[in-house]
Amino acid sequence: MIMPLIKGLQITISHMFKKPVTLQYPTERPDVKPGFRGLHALNVSHDKAKCVACYLCPTVCPAKCITVEAGEDQNHDKYAAKYEIDMLRCIFCGYCVEACPVDAIRMTEQFELANYSRADFTYTKDRLLEKK
Ligand code: SF4
Ligand code: SF4
Repeated sequence: MIMPLIKGLQITISHMFKKPVTLQYPTERPDVKPGFRGLHALNVSHDKAKCVACYLCPTVCPAKCITVEAGEDQNHDKYAAKYEIDMLRCIFCGYCVEACPVDAIRMTEQFELANYSRADFTYTKDRLLEKK
């Protein structure tokens, strides 16, 4: 009776001096690995979004969560007048990034996407341009 108790206590005490395996989030931040697929960002060129509204990314998106509407600027070049991602539907597959012919979209290391209202999960063009 006493020996199993002593053995049990030995195990308990030995664990008290071991390095914890649990990450004390948010005080301790996880090490985000290269290639991590977090929140999207629109890349910028010459002070405007690189997106040329080719519709490839909404076409390949399996979750159908990307909305693009094309516009035409003063030089008659096509641009994304509207670009929106519904992050509640996104499955972070990265197909949109792979499909883009002009490297206009990427995925960032941002993973803290919790929010309170459905509207906050709609990432408009302006919000996607803000991301690092
Ligand atoms: S990561 Fe996948 S699901 Fe999310 S927007 Fe891109 S293509 Fe759609
Ligand atoms: S694939 Fe690239 S250029 Fe085409 S609509 Fe999507 S982000 Fe824009």
